[in-house]
Amino acid sequence: MTTTRFAPSPTGYIHIGNLRTALFNYLIARKAGGQFILRLDDTDPERSKQEYVDGIMEDLEWLGLTWDRVEKQSERLEHYEAAADELRKMGRFYECFETPVELDLKRKKQLNMGKPPVYDRSSLALSEAERDALRAERGAGHWRFKLDQQRIEWKDGILGDLSIDAASVSDPVLIRGDGQFLYTLASVCDDIDYGVSHVVRGSDHVTNTATQIQIIQAMGGTLPSFAHHSLLTGPQGEALSKRLGTLALRDLRASGLEPMAVLSMMARLGSSEPIELRVSMDELIEGFDLSKFGAAPTKFDVEDLKPLTSKYVSGLPYATMADDLRALGVPDAIATDFWDVARDNMDVRSDVEQWWTLCRDGAEPLIDAEDAEFVAQAKTLLPEAPWTTETWGQWTKAVKAETGRKGRGLFMPLRKALTGMQHGPDMSRLMPLLSKVNL
Ligand code: GLU
Repeated sequence: MTTTRFAPSPTGYIHIGNLRTALFNYLIARKAGGQFILRLDDTDPERSKQEYVDGIMEDLEWLGLTWDRVEKQSERLEHYEAAADELRKMGRFYECFETPVELDLKRKKQLNMGKPPVYDRSSLALSEAERDALRAERGAGHWRFKLDQQRIEWKDGILGDLSIDAASVSDPVLIRGDGQFLYTLASVCDDIDYGVSHVVRGSDHVTNTATQIQIIQAMGGTLPSFAHHSLLTGPQGEALSKRLGTLALRDLRASGLEPMAVLSMMARLGSSEPIELRVSMDELIEGFDLSKFGAAPTKFDVEDLKPLTSKYVSGLPYATMADDLRALGVPDAIATDFWDVARDNMDVRSDVEQWWTLCRDGAEPLIDAEDAEFVAQAKTLLPEAPWTTETWGQWTKAVKAETGRKGRGLFMPLRKALTGMQHGPDMSRLMPLLSKVNL
């Protein structure tokens, strides 16, 4: 069975970059009729917060990325303990006592000598007695997985054939000196236990994947298929990492962007397929193909979500809006006509309020000084209510005959006088809906 997971650490809210990972994994699972797991990587008790767990769930729900199962790493520590014991028995796990400062110094020395900063395994050479002495002096050490120093190869779902020399990678630390399990061990245990078949994550995890492959193999697990998507950059190709804080999903939601607009874009951005608005999750699932994505960094501009949102909102059928319109106080008798007029003039869904206020209360007229006389004249020609879709035509015809104005000079001042705006709905269709003008 196809099983994927989205594995955020609840140490902050999720942003557009995380969404990409979540969405790819979700779509792969749904397309295959498989399972999508929400896994909370919360082994860091200090930084993980319930508020972020709730926030992540809220954001995923807003997008409609439903999960079949939720798991928390903090509730599985005994599994990680057992896995660590296994690795110890196999001789693949060793305790190290270097302090961060010592490690840093070693790295600097290596770099100065033009060597890659790979951990030198000096703790591996310690005798039992030396280890005991260090433990007595410095407290419990941290634990590293002993990599087999050979090439680690896999066929990546996006990057193609990859090969990493394990000798160029430090033996990964899996348990910290204070006993905290680190992500790599916990992730591998979970992926094996939950039968995760596909792991898609950012390309910043490529080296992790290499080491995880060896750990999975050591533990006798089945390797999932790995794929690493490129990282998002800003519109000019600049690193997005610093700006990601402003691209939290909750901020996008608050700015009125529509989930389907966000999803439609993120399911295609960085692939060879065009970005097209999809109005249902089924369509999105149907049109998703991981193999179309490329390795190059993906430019992302939050502005591009606006036209997609506007397009989505314009396409919303009356039935979807009916409750909102009723809540606004739009009478049922004119609600479909009103929606048909408003829908083509919306950036975000909440703009509908502004159009309803205009229809109900009329606008503050916008009259340029040079048009004052013209508008006053036009006012005397305004037909009596009730207005129909013919009214605008009849009125402007009469005003034209009387004043000699035509084209933009005729229509624009009248539009501005009636709506207070230069742009907006088709006036013929709007006029029957205006219950008040403030001329
Ligand atoms: N918690 C990890 C992260 O957010 C998960 C990475 C993974 O998908 O394995 O980077």
